[in-house]
Amino acid sequence: MSRIAYVNGRYRPHREALIHVEDRGYQFADGVYEVCEVRGARIVDERRHMARLTRSLAELRIGLPMPLTALSVVLHETVRRNRVRDGIVYLQVTRGVARRDHAFPAAGTAPAVVVTARALDAAKGEKVAADGIAVVTMSDNRWARPDIKSVSLLPNILAKQAARDAGAREAWFIDAKGFVTEGASSNAWIVTPDGEVVTRPVDNSILNGISRTVVLDAIAAQGLRLAERPFTVAEARAAREAFVTAASQIVQPVVRIDGAPVGDGRPGPVATALRREFHRHAEFT
Ligand code: PLP
Repeated sequence: MSRIAYVNGRYRPHREALIHVEDRGYQFADGVYEVCEVRGARIVDERRHMARLTRSLAELRIGLPMPLTALSVVLHETVRRNRVRDGIVYLQVTRGVARRDHAFPAAGTAPAVVVTARALDAAKGEKVAADGIAVVTMSDNRWARPDIKSVSLLPNILAKQAARDAGAREAWFIDAKGFVTEGASSNAWIVTPDGEVVTRPVDNSILNGISRTVVLDAIAAQGLRLAERPFTVAEARAAREAFVTAASQIVQPVVRIDGAPVGDGRPGPVATALRREFHRHAEFT
């Protein structure tokens, strides 16, 4: 079955799904995106993703390309046309097409929209979670606004590749004070030796992960102790458990940090329970 992409008003086979050479997303990474989990052919936490999209667009002064209700129809239609039951739907909005010039194009330039969807192997995801993943740490060399979900991801790409080269699945960024900010494409969490779940509070230095907010709800429902505060690499290495969260992988236990085992080197009970409970706290549309 050929995949279908939505591009600026049309549903196209992927090989014909083209954007203009002067799309500002292509030339300047002048755009934002969202990735939503699809589960049982339904979109997970669409409302929260659309709220974050609206915020990212507003921070960059890019207009909403269409009303959110219309965008929702496009997301669901792209999922349907690609027959995705379990996977992801990707949405990208750029500042549109205009003659190359750093400053914003003329008012009225239409934002450009692309939506794609693809299936992910759910069994493979479960296998990865059962084994746990390795992370490596590296200095956070991103711009000062990772809270905006911009398509400008070069530092994240280089960090992820460095992780792959080191045999790890994720990279954790470390700020100038030695605190973990977040993963290259996930939020970072630990469970301290006395059972407190710790994650960095949201400010401009990290993305406010939608899965992060779902896990916060799950933590509250389970009566776990939570501290939203920064933690260091040393603290993470001495933690009882560590894990990451992202829409494409929900909760993934971390079992090695820079080659050293976390806890007993196996997925811990807190991360495993939060993964199991995740969808009970998510919204489906
Ligand atoms: N942090 C970064 C840098 C990300 O790229 C992502 C997701 O891709 C996340 C955190 C997790 O966000 P979400 O839970 O909304 O997928």
